[in-house]
Amino acid sequence: MPYTSTAAVRGYDVADDSKPYECETCGKSYTKRDRLKKHIEVKHTTNIQLFICNECSKEYCSDDDLQRHLLIHTVRYKCPYCGKRHDRRDRYERHVQKCIQNAGLLPA
Ligand SMILES: [Zn+2]
Ligand SMILES: [Zn+2]
Ligand SMILES: [Zn+2]
Repeated sequence: MPYTSTAAVRGYDVADDSKPYECETCGKSYTKRDRLKKHIEVKHTTNIQLFICNECSKEYCSDDDLQRHLLIHTVRYKCPYCGKRHDRRDRYERHVQKCIQNAGLLPA
């Protein structure tokens, strides 16, 4: 196809419909989502959206990484004996002590 620049396709109604994936950063549009994704990776790598943990303000480049990290916070205060969760460390530790006594278990 002879379309070498966006200026060349201006005036054609098809232009918008045929390139539905538009880069939010620079406005360049692409026919395929993959192409746009690649463009963002290559051209705007310094503008990666950061995913920030509410608990400790750690920054992650992807939501996947953040979700994996969040497990640290939820699992940290989970009682290994009864599975009860606590959002505060002091309460959690008191609870675990009680759980150990109740179950007649000794800490490892
Ligand atoms: Zn762009
Ligand atoms: Zn965190
Ligand atoms: Zn417990």
